[in-house]
Amino acid sequence: MSLSFENVTLGQRVLFGYGRAARNLSAEAERLGARRVMVIAAPPEAEIAERVTADLPVVLRHSDVRPHVPVEKAEAARAAAAECRADLLVCVGGGSTTGLAKAVALTTRLPIVAVPTTYAGSEATNVWGLTEASRKTTGVDDAVLPAAVVYDSELTMSLPVDLSVASGLNAVAHCVDSMWAPRTNPINQAFAMEGLRAVADGLRRIARKPDDVDGRDAALHGCYLSGVAFTSAGSGLHHKICHVLGGAYDLPHAQTHATVLPYVLELNAPGVPDTAHRIAGALGSATPVAGLNDLRWELEAPRALADYGMRREDIPEAVQLILPYVPPDNPVQVGAEELTDLLTRAWAGEPAQDRKAA
Ligand code: NAD
Repeated sequence: MSLSFENVTLGQRVLFGYGRAARNLSAEAERLGARRVMVIAAPPEAEIAERVTADLPVVLRHSDVRPHVPVEKAEAARAAAAECRADLLVCVGGGSTTGLAKAVALTTRLPIVAVPTTYAGSEATNVWGLTEASRKTTGVDDAVLPAAVVYDSELTMSLPVDLSVASGLNAVAHCVDSMWAPRTNPINQAFAMEGLRAVADGLRRIARKPDDVDGRDAALHGCYLSGVAFTSAGSGLHHKICHVLGGAYDLPHAQTHATVLPYVLELNAPGVPDTAHRIAGALGSATPVAGLNDLRWELEAPRALADYGMRREDIPEAVQLILPYVPPDNPVQVGAEELTDLLTRAWAGEPAQDRKAA
């Protein structure tokens, strides 16, 4: 069959370097002509943020960051940006912090320079999210794509191993789900498979030695590749499921992704044998689910949705909420029966297995 696809590559500068965040950030702020910088960082990341922004013309440090960007927090941050007449947003932190900067950029159109300290990958996407009355809305707007990303794995050294693992498996999920997402193509698949290789290698090293610089570098550069793949390929079945679960049952983002992924891989892999083979190869295994299980076992990964507060009696409702979002071009047919089975097993943390094609 001849090759035919459309790919969009988003324009963004990336500066990567251990111990170079302050220097690279100053250079980017200068390049953007910034005179009045609003720094967004949650209290736990305040010390990191102060250190890397010490040379910037900072007019405001904003720390009121909450997971999933509640709309009232976005409005308060927008008002603060207007009041201090910011001309650049610098966010230092995980996906929640990047998310708040994106919410400000969405209405103010201010440029963002992102300094990520987890492996969420949001900095590489033009996707924003806002939560109102427990409902998360997402959208796409190029104004929220950070103009530049400054990666420095020294800043991730303080991320505890369990959070590194959950966050890194969120990046793994970006890579795997990109392989069958609506706009999957050979370019974003190449990013996804290299990202998967790098994140898996990085996480293994971090689990053995949390301050392994090469491991932290591999996880961080892999998370960028995962974000690029995801923003190009779009949301596949895995992201649709996790989006609904996170919003409806207030489950933690990274841990939910880490827990659900093996069951989506178990379900979809038989429908795409070549892709399954590539995923297995990137994980250093003969088969994909066994490869992911081995990685998860080594990392002592999050195991069951029940551990994060989801109740067994929530499953029928969750199935009905997810059904309208099942991508029509998912590699295998997914109905209520398949979703019930998947969620029941993910809820209990039953071991996922490689299945034969039907
Ligand atoms: P998070 O930003 O809430 O961070 C998790 C925890 O890690 C927080 O307690 C934070 O204080 C702590 N932390 C961060 N960096 C640290 C460090 N270096 N040392 C010690 N602790 C540190 O969670 P997350 O998993 O990074 O991001 C999840 C959010 O990102 C979700 O809201 C999700 O929807 C969003 N997200 C958005 C996109 C997108 O494309 N828009 C993509 C991925 C994730």
